[in-house]
Amino acid sequence: MAGIYIHIPFCKQACSYCNFHFSTTAKHREEIVAAMLKEIEHRADFFNGEAIKSIYLGGGTPSILNQAELSSIFKQLESHFNLNDLKEVTLEANPDDLSKEKLRELKELPINRLSIGIQSFHQKDLDFMNRAHSAEEGIATVKRALDMGFEKLSLDLIFGIPTSTTADWEANLRQIFSLDFDHLSAYALTLEEGTLFHHQVKSGKAKEIEDREVAEQYNLLQDYIKNESWEQYELSNYCRNEQYAIHNTAYWMNEKYLGIGPAAHSYDGAKRRWNLANNHLYYKHIHEGKQYYETEQLSEIDRYHELLISRLRTKWGIPKTFLEETFSSNILEHFTNKLSKLSEYFEEKDDRYQIKRAFWFTSDNLLEQLMVDS
Ligand code: SF4
Repeated sequence: MAGIYIHIPFCKQACSYCNFHFSTTAKHREEIVAAMLKEIEHRADFFNGEAIKSIYLGGGTPSILNQAELSSIFKQLESHFNLNDLKEVTLEANPDDLSKEKLRELKELPINRLSIGIQSFHQKDLDFMNRAHSAEEGIATVKRALDMGFEKLSLDLIFGIPTSTTADWEANLRQIFSLDFDHLSAYALTLEEGTLFHHQVKSGKAKEIEDREVAEQYNLLQDYIKNESWEQYELSNYCRNEQYAIHNTAYWMNEKYLGIGPAAHSYDGAKRRWNLANNHLYYKHIHEGKQYYETEQLSEIDRYHELLISRLRTKWGIPKTFLEETFSSNILEHFTNKLSKLSEYFEEKDDRYQIKRAFWFTSDNLLEQLMVDS
């Protein structure tokens, strides 16, 4: 199932925990959008005419682009790819960008799903994370998006924030489940090098909360998911009424995808390719006809590791037949040997391997043990 990811590398301000590729200056925005249009043209053969199922505009903050810029991207995609069977077109947005006027403009574009970065309903958390929106804006934006006819909403929350207790997190859960939406992505706050949060922790200005408390908050989320009759279908992703994210599910299923824009990655089943993570160099190289990406041919071991990481923590797991058809006997032997030693953490259901759900949250170590060099 083919999908296209468009990376919009601009943000209003830097959130203290974020290590994605973005720039807080809109300098050269026109040139960068023009380069992205060129890149779309360069990559027109990527899917060989196969129908695209999903388009995802992420970043950075795609809602920063104006209607004309977004429209030019969609027009270019329509001219170069088969969009006849498009199911999902998601735009990531921050609450502070989604005014009534902005939503009206977005509604005129082929966008049918908004992924809104709420993160918390507590002002102290938003201040700590240097988010650009207020606690009130989070709630008002969701209601406004619904009023404007956006039926498919995915909301993002973060737990394990140093400024919040587990009781505060529970208040976030109560608040979010009082809203009318179908998809939730909830991540534990992680310490990433090069971020302000990392610097604050290293210099003693902030403290990470204890693992025990982070796990408590994750478990509380699981209780809410159960009580609200929602479903956890991936470690950090939840939905009701089977509203699985089509685009992200394709990543977890190792489907091919094309990435456009600075720092965007592409995968064609055998190779990974990633663009320069530098706005200036990205557009300069494209305009000058120079190489703007690097490529890596994936070895069998690379593909095996990627499969473990992406699929074992989804409700779909890894089908036995898929493993047998895809990998050599050496890899299969390695996998079954390791699995037999870790059997209490895994289940084999309907001929699929999966980490038992109770261990998803603490499964990094399990995945490492399944890897070839361990
Ligand atoms: S979290 Fe989102 S809005 Fe904040 S800096 Fe990162 S990409 Fe930008």
